[in-house]
Amino acid sequence: MTNSAPSDKALVPFVSVDHMMRLIHHIGVEDMLRGLADYIEADFRRWQLFDKTPRVASHSAEGVIELMPTSDGEVYGFKYVNGHPKNTADGLQTVTAFGLLADVASGYPVLLSEMTILTALRTAATSALVARLLAPENATTMAMIGNGAQSEFQSLAMKAICGITEVRLFDTDPAATQKCARNLEGLGLKVVACPSPEDAILGAGIITTCTADKQYARILTDNMIGAGVHINAIGGDCPGKTELAPGILERSDIFVEYPEQTRIEGEIQQLAPDHPVTEIWQVLTGQAPGRTSQRQITVFDSVGFAIEDFSALRYVRDQIRKTPLCHMLDMLADPDDPRDLFGMLQRARP
Ligand code: NAD
Repeated sequence: MTNSAPSDKALVPFVSVDHMMRLIHHIGVEDMLRGLADYIEADFRRWQLFDKTPRVASHSAEGVIELMPTSDGEVYGFKYVNGHPKNTADGLQTVTAFGLLADVASGYPVLLSEMTILTALRTAATSALVARLLAPENATTMAMIGNGAQSEFQSLAMKAICGITEVRLFDTDPAATQKCARNLEGLGLKVVACPSPEDAILGAGIITTCTADKQYARILTDNMIGAGVHINAIGGDCPGKTELAPGILERSDIFVEYPEQTRIEGEIQQLAPDHPVTEIWQVLTGQAPGRTSQRQITVFDSVGFAIEDFSALRYVRDQIRKTPLCHMLDMLADPDDPRDLFGMLQRARP
């Protein structure tokens, strides 16, 4: 028997960067952020079902490369992601990613997707989902400290999901702030470029830190933070890389995705290993309180967890069923006789 063309079951949908951008424009950025937040929330509500492990990290002086796997028993997923703060100086992204979903029953991949843009969307959707639980009532202003690749996504998610109407921008590089302000123009937010982080946090109910620097940074110092704010701390996400002064953490109630990973990578690596934290899934399912008073400082110590990527890939898989924005990839060998892999190779000899 010959085997020239792969069968449909061996073809894997691949969502390229171009397809992802077309999908986002087809759905609309804010609708997609809301859709992703719904999928993430649905998966956090069934937290116990998932295989969970801290991500597998390979560190170097320049950055980190990580694999983030999980499974709900029916579908398996993983993401490959890097974090290289110095990349932007060479014209490269700090964070790039791709991911895969597979059918647990057969082990066959069912989706391969770019995830650089999708990670920015899922991180922003998670931030806003959490801020909806924890931000002070009637918060309409967010400070956005760090105006790099994630910043517009973070701003738009807070608008779409939490009703934020004003963002106050600060970055040590004014060109990043100008870029962010320009990109947000006409998207329904009041945008204020600020000369200092102190200025950026004026009147902000939500403070997002999203900087990239591999050190124990002090983007927010203890004396900057008064009662009642919600801090969405995104950038501290690997050992030796944090953004908040420990004094802020000591005065705050801290909320995390998966403590086993956050204690290694998050802001709380600066605290005792048994410092109390609340898991977001517990708040979402009513098993733990979120914000309990208007004076409380809440911190979402975000590092990014595999289940969020799984949810994002699940969302994309469901969307491309409606809008065929993908290539079908011939990436699984598919001999007519499953045991005749070598025969298939022989028959393909030129
Ligand atoms: P980026 O390099 O595009 O942007 C980072 C910005 O921070 C730059 O514009 C830089 O000038 C600015 N910056 C550096 N030090 C600063 C300081 N002291 N004060 C103000 N601004 C400062 O990176 P990005 O893709 O936007 O990612 C930002 C961070 O978020 C990275 O550290 C990344 O690892 C992290 N991240 C976390 C998650 C998560 O799930 N928690 C997801 C994606 C990215």
